[in-house]
Amino acid sequence: MRVFSKSLLAGILSLFIGVTVADTYPSKPVTLVVPFSAGGPTDNVARALAEGMRKSLGQQIVVENSAGAGGTLGTAKVAKAANDGYSLLLMHIGFATAPSLYRKLSYDPATDFEPIGLVAEVPMTLIARSDFPAKNLSEFITYVKANSAKMNFANAGLGSASHLCGLIFQNAIKTEIQTVPFKGTADAMTALIGKQVDFLCDQTTNTTEQIKAGRVKAYAVTSPKRLSNFADLPTLAESGFPGFQVAVWHGLWAPKGTPKAVIDKLVSSLNEGLKDAAFRDRMSKLGAEIYPAERATPKALGEFSKAEIARWAPIIKAAGQYAD
Ligand code: ASP
Repeated sequence: MRVFSKSLLAGILSLFIGVTVADTYPSKPVTLVVPFSAGGPTDNVARALAEGMRKSLGQQIVVENSAGAGGTLGTAKVAKAANDGYSLLLMHIGFATAPSLYRKLSYDPATDFEPIGLVAEVPMTLIARSDFPAKNLSEFITYVKANSAKMNFANAGLGSASHLCGLIFQNAIKTEIQTVPFKGTADAMTALIGKQVDFLCDQTTNTTEQIKAGRVKAYAVTSPKRLSNFADLPTLAESGFPGFQVAVWHGLWAPKGTPKAVIDKLVSSLNEGLKDAAFRDRMSKLGAEIYPAERATPKALGEFSKAEIARWAPIIKAAGQYAD
């Protein structure tokens, strides 16, 4: 006797009784993979969004932290997951930089995903342990250059935003510094607060509260303009590094082949989530800028991530860092 899978049987049954996938989806909790550790900046965006989307989706969205290898492990996991709408990915700019950083990736960001929409954009901050002996950015750079052999800076692994920012920083100051990779910058932050590492460049969605509490020292921001949350912090661009701008954009994806009707439901739920008052409040406190509705679409994310892959390739190539 042939054994049919449950989903195949459900599909055949739905043909007979006129029920479409879109009518029944979601009939169980949806998993949202965050490819970094819990409590970090990407996780903070994901959990707030999951709560905002839950209301319109009518189901729980369970965040799963599948961390490692700069976000590429969790991203690969979703690329290979069932394309039934129950496995989603919340990833950031690393989605577009990983193809240039890794010689071999087990997924293709251009062909293995269905984009759902852009979520939010987050600036980064250059921060150091609280006892770092520099009063401002120029002293910080002088100190780092003079002591580079003894310095180390944390990141969330090759392909992460903190890695990218560190790469640009080292290029900007023409100094190589030892890196210490973690599974996410929540862990990197713990090490920085504990003074086990010297500095870190990370999203404001992780650093805002720590800077305000004085647990770490902040020197600069990577946005084109100063941030209202930290008006006293200079931008790197105004401090002699005009090209030094990193905006960590976040997007939502499903595996390739997820039915269009399911994607449509997710797009509308994403848009409800982005309007959710609690989501907006949390993002604004953490310095994240939520994308407008016209960018929270498959077309906008698809085109934008394609352009970002092309934009970062020559920059990363010039910096000459790869992993196998
Ligand atoms: N901020 C991290 C990064 O550097 C990721 C994270 O832990 O959310 O990409």
